[in-house]
Amino acid sequence: MLRVFGAPSRYLQGPNALAEMGPYLSHIGKRASLVADTIVMDLIGYRVQQVCAAADLNCESLIFTGDIVPAEIDRLSALARAQRPDFIIGAGGGKGIDAGKAVAHALDIPVVTIPTAASNDAPTSKNYVIYDENHRLLRVGHMKRNPEVVVVDTAIIINAPLRMLTAGIGDAIVKKFEVAQCIGAGGPNMFGAAACQAASALSELCYSTLRAHAAGALGAEKNKIIDEDFERVVEAAVLLSGLAFESGGLSIAHAMTRGLSAVRGARDALHGHQVAYALLVQLTLERRSAEFIDDIAAFYKEVQLPTSLAALGLAQPTEAELGTIAEQTMTAKHVKNFERALSASEIVAAVRLVEQRYSEES
Ligand SMILES: [Zn+2]
Repeated sequence: MLRVFGAPSRYLQGPNALAEMGPYLSHIGKRASLVADTIVMDLIGYRVQQVCAAADLNCESLIFTGDIVPAEIDRLSALARAQRPDFIIGAGGGKGIDAGKAVAHALDIPVVTIPTAASNDAPTSKNYVIYDENHRLLRVGHMKRNPEVVVVDTAIIINAPLRMLTAGIGDAIVKKFEVAQCIGAGGPNMFGAAACQAASALSELCYSTLRAHAAGALGAEKNKIIDEDFERVVEAAVLLSGLAFESGGLSIAHAMTRGLSAVRGARDALHGHQVAYALLVQLTLERRSAEFIDDIAAFYKEVQLPTSLAALGLAQPTEAELGTIAEQTMTAKHVKNFERALSASEIVAAVRLVEQRYSEES
């Protein structure tokens, strides 16, 4: 199998990165359409317009409803076509970024991403998620290329709610273990190819960065101080996490988002919180020692990540709900990227073990 590594063309990060993005954007074209919901448009819309104007770029706005469903993507794409942009700017949390990617994909033009929270790795990756009207995952779209420029303004990110950063830490902490399983099983990365060494090295760096700096970063965010801990953790959550999974591959923790999104309470949890919990299940399935998993669970406590279904929003799960989690997890293709073939009953048993060990503690 061919080894493939993919990445954004440019990644900018720092306080007021937004103010300095002009020259990077003007390399792409002369006309941009900014996709964002009303909250994000109020937050950064005017500044994006100003920075674009200073770089001799025309920038028009497209207000996103916040629901990333096919009808909304069609509506935004039709409006975007009329604006004739050379590229799309997608801004916001996960959904605003994904809406920008979906419109750029529909128009077959590049995308620039501006995350307003470090809650996931969507800003760097080429994929985006579309839901149906009932908020169920409908499909994962893949752009031909990664975002052209990723603009991570830490002066904006520091003001996002704290739980957004804990979700970003959750989405990132899992990558080392998923990449290792996917590579070990000979599974494909997001390019349908084998992983380069770079992907596992980045996943290791992502993990060690979080273990060393995540608690400090949460403290920094509480005090609204952009320090080295904060910068490193934002980079781990947005850049390292994205590069690691896309070029390294995914496994059980991400496969379980299918199951956890199908049950009450847990379905409303942030993606990063879902995968963090699911990693405890994956490590149990890997038959890791109790000490090893206890150490990860202790870290979760420190950085406010869930160690039980109750903490995720699913208090007192029924047998039927545990069954649904396992069966839906088995439908995800990443479930094959594991050291052995799994069954739904093994997943239920692993979830039960995690619940026994950690549910009272949460
Ligand atoms: Zn993820």
